This record gives sequence, structure tokens and C-alpha cells, in this order.
Amino acid sequence: MATKHILIVPGDGIGQEVTAVGKKVLDKIAARFGHTFTYDEALVGHAAIEATGNPLPDETLTKMRASDAILFGAVGHPKYDNDPSAKVRPEQGLLKMRKELGLYANLRPIKLFDELLDASSIKPEILKGADILFFRELTGDIYFGDKGRKNNGDTAFDIAEYSRFEVERIARKAFEAARTRRKKLCSVDKANVIETSRLWREVIQKIAPEYPDIEVEHQFVDATAMLLIKDPRRFDVVVTANLFGDILTDEASQIAGSMGMLASASIGDGTGVYEPIHGSAHDITGKGVANPLASILSAALLLDISFGMKAESDAVIHAVDQVLKAGFRTRDIANAQTPADMIKGTDAIGEEVLNRI
Ligand code: NAD
Repeated sequence: MATKHILIVPGDGIGQEVTAVGKKVLDKIAARFGHTFTYDEALVGHAAIEATGNPLPDETLTKMRASDAILFGAVGHPKYDNDPSAKVRPEQGLLKMRKELGLYANLRPIKLFDELLDASSIKPEILKGADILFFRELTGDIYFGDKGRKNNGDTAFDIAEYSRFEVERIARKAFEAARTRRKKLCSVDKANVIETSRLWREVIQKIAPEYPDIEVEHQFVDATAMLLIKDPRRFDVVVTANLFGDILTDEASQIAGSMGMLASASIGDGTGVYEPIHGSAHDITGKGVANPLASILSAALLLDISFGMKAESDAVIHAVDQVLKAGFRTRDIANAQTPADMIKGTDAIGEEVLNRI
């Protein structure tokens, strides 16, 4: 029996709708397993800009640092998508949060529930049983190095940088995760061409002997892009740099069929942040049709990773599986064969999950 303090940061658009359901799931787990979870709420993104002029107000950051874990929704608003010159933007809140909390590893479990095999654009016989855990480095690489223009603006450059320390700390997280799974680690780089990749590979090779139980494979990113679609079952844990990870994890999200199903964790040495991979989806905001399962599965990751509550986390995943097995779907994961009365809105499918915990 534990006491934990959770910060709910719904953000914008459907972030508000799905995070409310994720919180109910955490409440149900606390009641069912005899834990005490206390909550606070904070603003981020467009909602925070409207209220304070700042996409990540100091008050939010203080609350984040004081919590044991953060359940996050999404940030974004069409107003900014159509105005690339806006100086203050919702996603600045996201980037600043990652930097301030030292969230250097982004974890994305890619696992397809059997009932959704048909929802993917990949053939079911290739997909069935695929279960991958991505570790994307989040605070280095080409996103954070020097960037600029020269030659009167006709030439642009972005510098990619990694230190041994940065590679080693995420590599160790990935090795440790592989120990709890099928004991395979695939490190993805472009060491035939790129110097930061050569350092990346050197570091992985240096620490690999400390994990003799883990089978390590090095792959070039172009090969990984191809193999993810050709044979996703060959992967267990994958670790890669920020830019490669950005692209490969979106590619891999298609293995799971829908954006509305995928959860992620951003972790470092302090408070972890758990959020769906999807954005604020203003095309469906306020309609009550957003799929809350990614937020619910984010809550399951939070329980497992930040609180070490494996049984509680499994109970959430099992409940989601049971809801899908019973035939319930949200609109984004339904198909032509789904009976109309089995297509549920955000709160109704959330209730089905709660009933099965
Ligand atoms: P999006 O993920 O919001 O939506 C893409 C498509 O998937 C939309 O058609 C949407 O309706 C659908 N979708 C997404 N989540 C769904 C869910 N839970 N249930 C059902 N359908 C779902 O991406 P976008 O449209 O490119 O971006 C919208 C806004 O979100 C932008 O402002 C963007 O900057 C922001 N964004 C934020 C994050 C984040 O906060 N981490 C991530 C991506 C995009």
C-alpha cells in the first residue's frame, strides 16, 4: 500500500478529454489495490498561454517537480499550426518541460492487441505477436545543436552533437529494460557515415560486456526502417538517437494500427511524464469520440515505471484487452464489420475499462 502524488496536465484539445479518463483509471486502481493517490492539476500549451501568456508557467513546473509522476495530455492549437511565425507556441511548453525535468529517454511500447490486427495497414500474419520497446534519446542530437544560416541565408546548417555520457545513460536504461523482456537489444545508428553514430556505437560496444545476458545487434537506420515493416517480430528493445527515433517511432506506430492506442513515457532521473503519442486533434475535440485508450495505457506505464506497480499496470492492460475482446471500439479503431452499438464514445469506453479492473 503506497501513497503517491500525481500531477494531471491535460493540455489542449482532446488532451482534456482523454486525460480525464486516464485519471479515473488511476483512481480505480488506487481503490482496488488499497493505495492512496492524491492529485493536482496544472496548465500547459495553448491553455497556459491563454491564462498566463506562457506555455509552461513556473507554477506548472514547480508542481511537476513536486509530484511523483505526471499524466500528460497533448498540446497544440490550429491557431499556431497555420502561423509558423508565432513567437510563443504551445509546443515550446513541451520542449521546455523535457529540458527542465531532464527527460532524456522516451519509451514507446509498440504492441498490437490481437483484436486490432485488421486495423493495421500491415498484413496480420506479419504483425501477429510483434512486441517492441523503443528507447529514443530525447535531449541531444540535431534538435539541440547550433543551427543557423550563412551565405546570405542561402545555406542552412544544424549541428548534431552527442557526448559519451548522454549515449551511455540511455543505453543503460535500454539494456536494463531488455533484461526484463526477451533479452535482445538492437542499437540503431548510421555509423558508416555519421560521426555521432560512430561514438554511439563505440559506447554501446564498450558497455555491452557488462550485460552478457543481452544479445546485442547494431543496425543502420535505413535497414531498420525497412525491417520494421518487413519483419517487426525480430525486434525486442530498440535504442536510438533523437532524430532517428523520431522517425522510426512514428513508422512503428502504424504497427499498432491507430494513434489512439499508443502510450509513451519520458523519463530521466526525476519525475517521469506519461502521455499518449497523439496530439490535440482539434478535428474531433468536443465531440466525445476521442479514443482514451492511449491515455489509459499511459497510466499503466506510469504505474509500472514510476511506481514499480507491475500487478496494477497489468490489471489496466488486461482490462483494455478484455474491452477489445468484448468487441467494443471507438470510431478510430472500428471497421465496416463493427456493429453500430459497439462503437463507443470517450467516456463510455472508459467506463467499460473501469468495469473490468
Ligand atoms: P493528432 O495526433 O492530433 O491527430 C492526427 C489524426 O489522428 C487526427 O485526424 C485525429 O483526429 C486522429 N487522432 C489522434 N488522436 C486520436 C484519438 N485519441 N482518438 C481518435 N482519433 C485520434 O496530430 P495533428 O492533427 O498532426 O496535430 C494536431 C495538433 O496537435 C497540432 O497542433 C500539433 O502541433 C499537436 N501535436 C501535439 C503533440 C503532443 O502534444 N505530444 C503530438 C503531435 C501533435
